[in-house]
Amino acid sequence: MSVLVFIEDGDELAQQALSFARAYGGEIDAIAFGSAPEVSGVRTLHVAQIEGGYAPQAWARAIASLSPTTVVAAGTDRGNEVLAHAAVMTGGVFAANVIRASGDEVTRQRWGGSLLEEARLHGDVRLMTVAPHAVAIETADGQPSVETFTPALESGDLVAQVVDRVQESTGGISLADAPVVVSGGRGVGSAEGFAPIEELAELLGAAVGCSRAVTMAGWRPHTDQVGQTGTKIAPDIYIACGISGATQHMAGCKGAKKVLAINDDPEAAILANADYAVIGDLAEIVPAITAEIRRARSGR
Ligand SMILES: Cc1cc2nc3c(=O)[nH]c(=O)nc-3n(C[C@H](O)[C@H](O)[C@H](O)COP(=O)(O)OP(=O)(O)OC[C@H]3O[C@@H](n4cnc5c(N)ncnc54)[C@H](O)[C@@H]3O)c2cc1C
Repeated sequence: MSVLVFIEDGDELAQQALSFARAYGGEIDAIAFGSAPEVSGVRTLHVAQIEGGYAPQAWARAIASLSPTTVVAAGTDRGNEVLAHAAVMTGGVFAANVIRASGDEVTRQRWGGSLLEEARLHGDVRLMTVAPHAVAIETADGQPSVETFTPALESGDLVAQVVDRVQESTGGISLADAPVVVSGGRGVGSAEGFAPIEELAELLGAAVGCSRAVTMAGWRPHTDQVGQTGTKIAPDIYIACGISGATQHMAGCKGAKKVLAINDDPEAAILANADYAVIGDLAEIVPAITAEIRRARSGR
């Protein structure tokens, strides 16, 4: 038996998908697009050449052309989209956000991780995406042999394709990978109220995040949203300012190693998930933290 792992790029989530595949058992092959990422512990790395940018159906066609029996990918937007197409093309069965698998039995996250489902995959071809930050990375040695190929596409495979990318200005720190994230919720009060949060984030080399209440109010773009329907983050520290801690929000930050909550409500749900809490008005506390860090750094 072999497991084919779709590598979007050689990042942490790809390493988690590879670790999951190794634990599942069998030889590990991988597929990537365009150029060969750095991977180890893989027998053959197939590098598909497809003209243009990301094209979910065409990428799935490349996966299907390798006639896999088990396919694993990181549970990212692209991982889930490509494997859903590949499941249709191979006549396989697909389970998203899996955290454990053995044979045809899988345990997977539902409802943003607030529910674990035991399921069985009935089918000759099994496709699984791995819930982000739910699997520990286990590295393996050995360089793959790299095989480049051009998959035969069908008409329509390139109808949906990324043709341009416009990068939001985030100060160079991506929310998904930032080691520190400072987020604001409805308690921030307005778009302008984010100025002290941005100042603190800049001082800490952090990314700015927010809750859905904030994106719904139009104070921040959806790319800043943390949660079930936003970005899943796993920083070393998550500083949540004026966020109540709804399950849909916590689904996006439960990978955080430490949570500091700043909230004026001592009964706020987020306090149950916080390692540290400051109870009070964030409009006073956030600037006070910024001032104290500046004071400590200046040695005064
Ligand atoms: C299908 C679905 C998907 C969803 N996906 C997401 C998601 O991805 N991400 C997400 O965040 N939400 C999501 N939600 C919404 C979620 O249920 C909550 O409504 C949302 O997270 C609440 O945002 P909030 O904590 O900012 O606001 P609120 O719940 O209104 O909380 C505001 C908090 O700020 C505190 N506060 C107020 N003023 C101050 C002050 N001056 N100083 C300090 N604290 C103050 C209050 O005590 C309160 O705790 C989803 C909901 C649904 C139904």
